[in-house]
Amino acid sequence: MKTKDELNKEILETSVKIQENYPELSKFADEMTITIPSDEKPVINANILKEYSDSLQGVATEYAKHSKKHIVIIGAGFAGLKLARTLNNHPNYTITLIDKNNYHQFQPLFYQVAMANLDASNISFPLRNIFHKSKNVNIRITDVTNINVEKNNIETVNGNFSYDYLVIATGAVTNYFGNEAIEQKTYPMKSTFEALQIRNTLLQHFEDALTANTAKKKKLLSVVIVGGGPTGVELSGALAEMKTDTLPFEYPELNFAEMNIFLLEGSSKLLSAMSEASSQKAKEYLQKLGVTVLLNTVVKGYNGTQLLMQDASVIESTFVIWAAGVKGNVPHGVHPDFISKSNQLKTDSYHRVISTNNIFALGDVALMESDLYPRGFPQLASVAIDQSKNLANNFLRIVENKDLIPFKYVNKGSMATVGRNKAVVDLAHPRLSFHGFFAWLIWMTLHLFLLIGFKNRLIVFINWIYKYFTHSQSLALLFPPLISKNNRLIDDK
Ligand SMILES: Cc1cc2nc3c(=O)[nH]c(=O)nc-3n(C[C@H](O)[C@H](O)[C@H](O)COP(=O)(O)OP(=O)(O)OC[C@H]3O[C@@H](n4cnc5c(N)ncnc54)[C@H](O)[C@@H]3O)c2cc1C
Repeated sequence: MKTKDELNKEILETSVKIQENYPELSKFADEMTITIPSDEKPVINANILKEYSDSLQGVATEYAKHSKKHIVIIGAGFAGLKLARTLNNHPNYTITLIDKNNYHQFQPLFYQVAMANLDASNISFPLRNIFHKSKNVNIRITDVTNINVEKNNIETVNGNFSYDYLVIATGAVTNYFGNEAIEQKTYPMKSTFEALQIRNTLLQHFEDALTANTAKKKKLLSVVIVGGGPTGVELSGALAEMKTDTLPFEYPELNFAEMNIFLLEGSSKLLSAMSEASSQKAKEYLQKLGVTVLLNTVVKGYNGTQLLMQDASVIESTFVIWAAGVKGNVPHGVHPDFISKSNQLKTDSYHRVISTNNIFALGDVALMESDLYPRGFPQLASVAIDQSKNLANNFLRIVENKDLIPFKYVNKGSMATVGRNKAVVDLAHPRLSFHGFFAWLIWMTLHLFLLIGFKNRLIVFINWIYKYFTHSQSLALLFPPLISKNNRLIDDK
């Protein structure tokens, strides 16, 4: 049996919760709290207090059950999509899922699209298809341009949307660290469109090299990848395999011994977030494949043919891929005080953007600081998914008027692949690093299961098996850029 004080406390807390979550009920909640006896007043029957508490809780729960709240989710990446799928057909929420693209893109396999190993459609999944039987999820394909925090609405190029709750899951964008020349002349890889651009440019350069003079040919056959994180390592490994496995057969007139692949990294190790052993092994693998790995090499500028380093050295190349950094992609309208140096939205442990009541941020765009992770959690698909699961659960708890649960990050480790039978894995529990065929198999299996849709998994699996045994790149197709009738380049950047 609860004491009178405990019940008193319970009523007060319930009342505060109702006022926070259901402002329409606040008048009623006020009336209920007025009847709470203070300690100075005559003793009141504990059973009556219990009744008050139960009825207040009951009213709030009933009210929540019958009211529909509108959640607007910006971004159908790993975080936004998972949230919408978890709340799909929930009777208390209507959801508007907004994305610039009408498909979900699987970023971990961009490099395979860029290197002509996979078709773009194999790693993209149409959003309308995912929700075609949904009763509460509406899809809008548009670009969010502004958030009006005070008015609880957002602006898009196709009109405004008001919300009860807003979830920002807009991911990250390429960080050029303010260097405009590099932004204009190098190739990023943060979208399917950009991966296709890399594929097209690469193949076009081989075509151009067939008729180029010696000096120009050297530049056309030189590919520089800046950034020694997983993206740079995976891209340069796949390109090195392409150089030996397929290019000599497709372009027998070119001498691929003249082709140079550079991987530049500003710090002293590749895969800086991974263990020393994995970093060393990745470097070894790449060097064996013929990639020139340059560590402690900071890029200063690029004019389209010459890449200038901080130590004044120069690499001649017409093709530079920029994989050297990302920053949060924060829509316009959020107060600058709540945006971190990494351009991420600072959140509390319930994913709520600091100083807001009904705005949440998930995944790469969110920065949740903790004692163990003062600079936030790693920008990984698994983190984005785990965060959205926690927020989805909290949305269910809001309906039941229960306390929200703080997010707890579970480090599952990290991995990167370099090429056939070559991958590195760092497990977190138990702390263990390994590499080689088994690591590669784990990498493949995990990525296959993260992909959305059975058909996509099957096609990717068949593609991988085919390539493993034939060493053949079957998708070296050169598609021209998409141009609309009014000459607008269709770009999802
Ligand atoms: C090349 C590459 C390889 C990677 N490899 C791995 C890996 O192997 N393992 C791993 O765990 N992680 C990997 N990651 C990281 C992982 O992809 C991200 O951590 C994850 O995508 C973050 O999910 P998110 O939902 O926060 O953002 P995203 O998945 O980036 O989704 C953001 C969505 O928001 C949409 N959007 C953005 N702005 C707007 C706007 N203004 N209006 C409308 N829509 C908008 C975008 O179109 C996009 O669909 C990789 C990333 C890249 C780029």
